[in-house]
Amino acid sequence: MSIPAPEIIAAFEAAKGFMPRHEGLALYAAAVRAARLGLPLLEVGTYCGRSTLLLADAARAAGVTAVTVDHHRGSEEQQPGWEYHDPEVVDPHTGRIDTLPAFRRTLHAAGLEDHVLALVGRSPQAAAVWRAPLGLVFVDGGHTDEHASADYAGWVPHLAEGGLLVVHDVFPDPADGGQAPYRLYLRALESGGFAEEPGTGSLRVLRRTGPAS
Ligand code: SAH
Ligand code: MG
Repeated sequence: MSIPAPEIIAAFEAAKGFMPRHEGLALYAAAVRAARLGLPLLEVGTYCGRSTLLLADAARAAGVTAVTVDHHRGSEEQQPGWEYHDPEVVDPHTGRIDTLPAFRRTLHAAGLEDHVLALVGRSPQAAAVWRAPLGLVFVDGGHTDEHASADYAGWVPHLAEGGLLVVHDVFPDPADGGQAPYRLYLRALESGGFAEEPGTGSLRVLRRTGPAS
């Protein structure tokens, strides 16, 4: 299994975000495998770049680009008064969440800006104009069924055969967390177009083997 260099792990640990280290290492290993296809790696849900920098480092090593999509206004559960709110990412000028500055600082600190294309906007809108085949689709955006199913419908058709669909926050037991990412994962498995590879924690890895519905 490929492991990031110590300075990349340090940048990951220093970045704000919602991914524990063991899942980050599994994401990185998946990205290194997927990058061998020579196609871009796509992330939905940039936040402050904690997971993005792992995709970026794998992309850098393979000479491909990491693409990351986020409107940077935060998910439902990150809004003021909700469980995952962080007042430090509120823009004092607008009073709205804005994670774009923190994201840029994360990538700059890791020296990986040149390997990332950041799309600022809603995932379905980005998917609607996207045309290139992808080596990896990492879904870690909105956790409602509406968002998760739009992410699946928008991005999975672009995933090349042999490419990896990686889903974060998959909790089969509702007591552990919301069910939308789990349902997305089940939908991929039931489509018949994926074979499951070993996962870690709530991170699931599926390899595209054929057409998915
Ligand atoms: N991958 C990050 C965490 C992402 S948190 C990490 O590991 O640290 C989820 C992000 O998805 C939030 O930043 C939120 O703004 C974004 N998001 C939610 N719904 C979205 C949508 N429909 N389009 C684009 N971004 C969305
Ligand atoms: Mg997540």
